Amino acid sequence: MRIGHGYDAHRFAPERRLVLGGVEIPHDRGMVAHSDGDVLIHALCDALLGAAGLGDIGGHFPDSSADFKDIDSRILLRHVVALLNERALAISNADITVVAQAPKLKPHVPAMRERLAADLCIAADRVNIKATTTEGMGFTGRGEGIAAYAVVLLKENGE
Ligand code: MG
Repeated sequence: MRIGHGYDAHRFAPERRLVLGGVEIPHDRGMVAHSDGDVLIHALCDALLGAAGLGDIGGHFPDSSADFKDIDSRILLRHVVALLNERALAISNADITVVAQAPKLKPHVPAMRERLAADLCIAADRVNIKATTTEGMGFTGRGEGIAAYAVVLLKENGE
């Protein structure tokens, strides 16, 4: 067994898309980022890379590269999953917490789970997504941005 943890945060700005867990969410603001700003998927990628001992998302997909400008983060996630497959690492489960004061994310969680499970090639009940606020405290509470935390468990060679 190998455990991994990931964290990411992005800043809100007007006239940007808000994409979380591969789902576009209607909101008056979106994430500032080199990619589509899917903070949830970025935290998940870092957890997977961390568990595999493969560094971090910035090392694999540098934001200085035009190749990743506005890229759909699901493409990055599927690339990370392929790296794990090459090393015979199977994903046991993922548990993700998204911290956002607004918008309400709960209605979108089932679609996020389905999409992430498809990209991870595991059942949706192995992908848990929780949404929380910080009751107005800190940068997420002031609506300046969104943060996400992810923990994953990998199994080596079918253990
Ligand atoms: Mg990011």
